[in-house]
Amino acid sequence: MDAIVLGGGLMGSATSFFLARRGLRVRLIERAAIGAGATVASFGNIRRTGRYLPQMPLAHRSLALWSQLHRLLDCDVEFRATGHLRLIFDTEALAQMRQFQFEAQNWGLEIDELTPADIRRRFPGLGPDAIAASFSPMDGSANPRLMGTAFATAAQRLGAEITDRAGPTTVTASPSGFHVTCDKGQFSAPILINCAGAGGRAIAAQFGEDVPLSVHGPQMGVTEPLPHRIVPVVGMWGADGAYLRQVERGNIVFGGGVKRTDVGPDGFARVDPARLEPQLRQLVRLLPQLRNVAILRQWSGAEGYLADTLPVMGASGTTAGLFHAFGFCGHGFQLGPGVGDTMAELVATGRSETPLAPFSITRFASRP
Ligand SMILES: Cc1cc2nc3c(=O)[nH]c(=O)nc-3n(C[C@H](O)[C@H](O)[C@H](O)COP(=O)(O)OP(=O)(O)OC[C@H]3O[C@@H](n4cnc5c(N)ncnc54)[C@H](O)[C@@H]3O)c2cc1C
Repeated sequence: MDAIVLGGGLMGSATSFFLARRGLRVRLIERAAIGAGATVASFGNIRRTGRYLPQMPLAHRSLALWSQLHRLLDCDVEFRATGHLRLIFDTEALAQMRQFQFEAQNWGLEIDELTPADIRRRFPGLGPDAIAASFSPMDGSANPRLMGTAFATAAQRLGAEITDRAGPTTVTASPSGFHVTCDKGQFSAPILINCAGAGGRAIAAQFGEDVPLSVHGPQMGVTEPLPHRIVPVVGMWGADGAYLRQVERGNIVFGGGVKRTDVGPDGFARVDPARLEPQLRQLVRLLPQLRNVAILRQWSGAEGYLADTLPVMGASGTTAGLFHAFGFCGHGFQLGPGVGDTMAELVATGRSETPLAPFSITRFASRP
């Protein structure tokens, strides 16, 4: 075995797929079910608007892959480039959007500014009180429930070994490499890629690389099905804005607008019912018709957030053969295919075309 990937969420399964595509012998080890961590809970937004700009090369790389996944994975993961509409309700948010729009051009992202008349004409029923909006036509969404298994199954077809429902895992290192012991046996390889999501901190800390990661759960919900009329993903500018999208079956999936919930020691992110009402107050600004619609279900998912809200990606600063890709701070879904491809490139060639310096774990090395 050339490499072990620890953690079978979107990052681990995509990394396994792209490593197998490069001809490496890979074993993906997941303590529970593939794709059932933060990945399955995701809203499914594939947006570049509002991202940290030095992350744009990775986001562009990922977007290019999203449009090829149907062919690469032989599976329709429901990627639709429907566009991403972000409504603006005050002049402060308008200034924020224009600043981002100006700076993003240097990073290869063009977004359009829409007037209220444009919004009414192109997206009737959305944001009647909005004073403007941004629109990014190439962005969109995909189905989070499919992603982990789509990548893992495709990796398996290329020869990757999948060990899922492995139970608690123990990682050790010796001069011959890394050893992962779990309910299904012991597996060894000279390379270990830590894709353990919210659990990534514990693995890194074992190798002297603790990071300021805390675990929280964004709160999501879904309505009863309605006639399908809303095509783009819809959000709002401003801190912690609410967002929604209508899936082709008609249900409206929503999130944002309220603080993320804390996650207990059992690792589960639980919904706080008291947050539904303030969340809906934000959402009706995007879509007033939501006032008359039944909410079918709410959920959350445990996601790792670094103190600087950037993920950890790249080679370990302490241990040869160890790599990290974890802590995607609530915005990793869009990045997933690009993360897998970039990590595979880095592991296989020792370098990556996409700059990873801002995400290096060594940025925390001098922490007291
Ligand atoms: C509710 C919610 C909504 C979101 N919405 C969006 C969105 O719209 N757009 C966007 O871009 N991003 C979004 N995100 C973020 C995105 O979903 C995540 O960043 C991404 O899925 C993280 O993938 P991952 O593989 O790193 O983590 P996970 O999917 O959590 O996978 C990590 C896996 O590692 C396993 N694991 C942990 N420790 C070990 C161990 N020691 N041994 C073996 N296995 C281990 C876990 O069981 C888990 O399956 C959202 C996240 C949440 C929670």
